[in-house]
This record gives sequence, C-alpha cells and structure tokens, in this order.
Amino acid sequence: MKKIAILGSTGSIGTQTLEIVEENKDLIVTGLAAGSNVELMEKQIRQFKPALAAMWSGEAAADLKRRVADLPVKVVCGMEGLLEIATMPEAEILVTAIVGMIGIRPTIAAIESGKDIALANKETLVTAGHIIMPLAEKCGVRILPVDSEHSAIFQSLNGEAGNEIEKIILTASGGPFRGKKTEELKKMKVEDALKHPNWSMGRKITIDSATLVNKGLEVMEAKWLFDVDLSEIQVVVHPQSIIHSAVQYRDGGIIAQLGMPDMKLPIQYALFYPERRPMNTKRVDFFELGQMTFEKPDMDTFTGLKLAYQAARTGGSMPTVFNAANEKAVSLFLDRKISFLQIPQLIEASMEHHRLIENPGVEEILQAEAETYEFIQSAVSDFIIR
Ligand code: NAD
Ligand code: MG
Repeated sequence: MKKIAILGSTGSIGTQTLEIVEENKDLIVTGLAAGSNVELMEKQIRQFKPALAAMWSGEAAADLKRRVADLPVKVVCGMEGLLEIATMPEAEILVTAIVGMIGIRPTIAAIESGKDIALANKETLVTAGHIIMPLAEKCGVRILPVDSEHSAIFQSLNGEAGNEIEKIILTASGGPFRGKKTEELKKMKVEDALKHPNWSMGRKITIDSATLVNKGLEVMEAKWLFDVDLSEIQVVVHPQSIIHSAVQYRDGGIIAQLGMPDMKLPIQYALFYPERRPMNTKRVDFFELGQMTFEKPDMDTFTGLKLAYQAARTGGSMPTVFNAANEKAVSLFLDRKISFLQIPQLIEASMEHHRLIENPGVEEILQAEAETYEFIQSAVSDFIIR
C-alpha cells in the first residue's frame, strides 16, 4: 500500500492522478486539497475517503464541511490547510498538482516531514529550486518529476549513473501559435490561446504553452532537477509531441523516452518509480505517425522563452520575478484585461524594474512576488500594446 496526498486534486493533473488511484488498488488517498471546486471535492471525498481535505477559502471549506458532515473527514482551509495536508503523517508521497508559486511553502514543509514529492508544480522549483533541491537531499527524500519532459529525462537517465551528460534535449510542441509572427500574435484572443494542439491541460499552463513561457519555466525546472548548466539544455520544437525529451551522453549517444502525449504515464511513473505498471492507453503507431519533425524555437517572436533564459542566467530572485510577472499577466490575459503580446511585455518590464537579490530565502521570494504583483498593478493601466 502506498499512501498519497494531492495538492490540486480537482485540476488537470489532480484528476488524472485520481484516475491512476482508481486503476491501482494499492494506492490510498490520505489528503486532498483544492481551490474552489467544492462540488468535485465532495465527489472525490466520497469516492477516495481521505482523512483530511482542504479548500482555499474559508467559505468554500465551510460549504464542503456541510456537504460531507456524514463522513469522518476533517476539513481545513487556507495556507494552514495546505500545510496540514502537505505534512500529514499518514502520507508517504505528496503530489504537487497545484498551480503557481503558492506551492512553495507546502512543498518545503512536505520535504521537511520526509515525504517524497511527485512534482508537477514547476513554478515552485523555478522560484525556489535553490532551496528545495538541497533540502530534499538533506532530508533524504526524492523529487520525482511529473512534467512529461522531465519525466522523459528522468527515464532516459535510468542506469546511467556516473555517465557524463553532454546535453539535455528538451522538446516543445511549439503550442497553438507555432509558425506565427508578431503581427498575427497581436490579434490572438483567449480562446485561440486555449486551443493546444496536443495536450489538454489547465488554463494557466495552456497559455504558458502558447507564449513558450512554459518551455522557459521547464528549462529552469530541468536545471534544478538534473543539476545541469543552462548551456547544456537545448530546446527543440517537435510538433508531434512523441519524443518527450532526451539525454545526450558524452559518446554522442542519445537516449529518449517516447510515447503518445498523455500525462498519465509520467504521473504513474512518478508514483511507482522505479516500477512500470501496466497502462491501458493509446500506443505510438509509427506507421500512422509517418514522420517526426524538428525546428528551432523562434525566440524573436516568442520572447517569453528568451526572457526565461535571461532570468535563469541572472539567477537569484530574477526567476521569481519572471514567474510572478507571468502568473499575474496570464491571469490578466484570461480576464481579457491585456492582450496576448502584453504578457511577455509585462514580464520584461517587471524584470527591468526589479532590484536583484542574490540568494533569496523563502520570505524574500514571497516578497519579490508581492512587489512584482504591485508593480504590474500600477503599470498595467498605462500599458500600451506595442
Ligand atoms: P489546473 O488549473 O487544472 O489545476 C490546478 C489545481 O490547483 C486545481 O485543483 C485547483 O483547485 C488547485 N488550486 C489552485 N489554487 C489553489 C489554492 N490557492 N489552494 C488550493 N488549491 C489550489 O492546473 P494543472 O494543469 O493541473 O497544472 C497543475 C501544475 O502542474 C502546474 O504547475 C502546471 O504547470 C503543472 N503541469 C501540468 C500539466 C498538465 O498536463 N496539466 C503538465 C505538466 C505540468
Ligand atoms: Mg511539460
């Protein structure tokens, strides 16, 4: 029996994780946390019977409490609630399927209480990787990647301990706007950006895929997870999303992981690593596929990726500013307050405005996040579409 807790159980990764629980009878859910979807949380509690459940707002938690009054589940809320789920003694693995850097404190708390992390919440690693990775090592816990590219790299590293890596090949689908130029991007609306060609995901990461910010976050995620230099990570656009990423070794040999675009494989792999469990999903048919193609990412048009490299090279608190500005800008775009191209523009303006902190602690990271939000709030009114 393996006991898992999930932060973000009602989202895209969260619900797919619970499908894996349904399919594997030796997984037990001890705790679930979500933002505001009380209805789905009630359903999940009735089906998976966790001891603890958290909703973000007190109001949602009170509503949930009324709905599940007949069950022996404790309902909590807010950051305290997330921390309680993250550290509950019953759980062995915490699946971090929450979106955004709100995951930093619960992830750190879970590591400190000895839990392995199945990490989907990349924003946490991007902003606090310098704290999380050494802490995980010190506490003897594993950070198991759920992001498909990082799972592919993790799988490609199997049995290669001690062999020197030449580079990591991080594949990208290119998103819904691949091949488009700046003039066309100006006109793109929320519904256009939400149409991802290969993956069905939460709204924030889908927008991040359209701007290529997601790939930028993934470059930073890979740097922390695999302890490689930025110069050793190459982004390759591969529109079919069959090669999920690869590792090139010093003899020139490349080991890659391939499969259909389906997040359930990386989620299940993280939960059962190093065991591979049966999985009843669509297989790659090479004859049907016909060909796989590759392109260079267009960083002149998709400046989000260029800015990510810049933030990663600067280091310190700059990745936090990059990430926080993106979180805020994406939310403004989804609310139709800014245009698509203003997302990277707001990130760039925030990075220019920021005074760098070399080695930020958690409080300084959260402070930089708050300052970035304030800056955007004050800047957004006089922002003009370039
Ligand atoms: P989503 O929006 O579908 O789900 C997010 C979940 O987090 C929801 O359950 C939501 O209720 C919960 N949540 C949000 N704010 C919360 C709060 N304040 N307190 C408690 N819960 C809160 O997002 P997603 O697509 O599942 O992505 C989750 C994470 O996984 C992101 O970091 C994303 O980058 C990463 N990821 C997702 C995919 C994918 O296929 N969806 C792939 C790779 C990585
Ligand atoms: Mg990914």
